[in-house]
Amino acid sequence: MSLNAATALPSFTRPVKATLSIAVFSLMLGLVGCNKAETPEQGADAAAPVETTAPVAGQDAATDGVATTNSDQVVTIYSSRNEQLIKPLLDKYTEETGVKIELVTDKTGPLMARLDAEGKNTPADILLTVDAGNLWQAAQQGLLQPVSSTILESNVPAKYRDPKGLWTGLSLRARTIFYDPSKVDAAQLSTYADLADPEWKGKLCLRTSKKVYNQSLVASMMEHLGTEKTEQVIRGWVDNLATDVFSDDVSMLEAIAAGQCEVGIANSYYYGRLLDEKPNFPVKIFWANQDTTGTHVNISGAGVIANSDNPDGALKVMEWLSSDKAQGLYASADKEFPVKEGVDESELLRSWGPFKQDDINVQKFGELQTQAIQMMDKAGYK
Ligand code: FE
Repeated sequence: MSLNAATALPSFTRPVKATLSIAVFSLMLGLVGCNKAETPEQGADAAAPVETTAPVAGQDAATDGVATTNSDQVVTIYSSRNEQLIKPLLDKYTEETGVKIELVTDKTGPLMARLDAEGKNTPADILLTVDAGNLWQAAQQGLLQPVSSTILESNVPAKYRDPKGLWTGLSLRARTIFYDPSKVDAAQLSTYADLADPEWKGKLCLRTSKKVYNQSLVASMMEHLGTEKTEQVIRGWVDNLATDVFSDDVSMLEAIAAGQCEVGIANSYYYGRLLDEKPNFPVKIFWANQDTTGTHVNISGAGVIANSDNPDGALKVMEWLSSDKAQGLYASADKEFPVKEGVDESELLRSWGPFKQDDINVQKFGELQTQAIQMMDKAGYK
């Protein structure tokens, strides 16, 4: 991960949008401990929208509900991340700053539809979600506003931020190759594209192409290999499938463990969680594309809502989430990698060894998403 602290822009320009005062709690901003985590993404844990209300020190939060006007001392987050993981972190922010956070949890699609429907009346200040492809979509739909922050520019490498400042990465996840060590030698593995080789006929397991994670991976391959070559690879993958595509990464990893297939592609944190539960889980991780473009890395991240009435408060929360202390907890709670360079990874992640990351700017995943979806459809990848 490359960090360019030196490239930070000189000013701290934030769009001013009906915000009253930032001075008071600007002072309250501090780097603190926290604890974050990851995605409900399976949707399962994102049932009905949930509101979290932490007690606030001495101010009238005007209310008791989500559908109220934000004051400077309240930041409302629409989040698709696992609430159990994210809430302790946000509570920590409230504890440190006195700023109340209202958390509304749902899947990304419904949250974006809600933002669209609420328009100028939305109580939301931040959209917190996974995958650059989702953040890019939100930006395309005009749901986010640009911010410029020397803190984010210093803490988050440029390749993990939107060039226009519409969203920023806050944690990293690698999407890489996993294999059954009783049947496969790591020396047989190399790239994502190589899994299209007939050598893997009947041995490959994949998650559905409907998931944004695979759309982003394929978008990155299109950028590196070109459209034609990538299509050949996708057709090869489909030819090599051992069974129908899986709805989620965990089922896919369990299928490798069960001997249903020998290799597959999944996000690193799912593997980390499985290892937490079952230290002897009989599947190994392999860092893909180490001799070529590097392993595909994606983000979880956030953007300030276009119609937020507290964009300064929103930005402060995002800046805080990118701080050293927040990053350590943010990442380790969910087996993700910190987005900020120099922040220690958890012991488990360190045990997987260092790896070369793809250097692509993650916004490409959004730009090429439609083409990736069309191509996978054409190639018969369900
Ligand atoms: Fe996920």
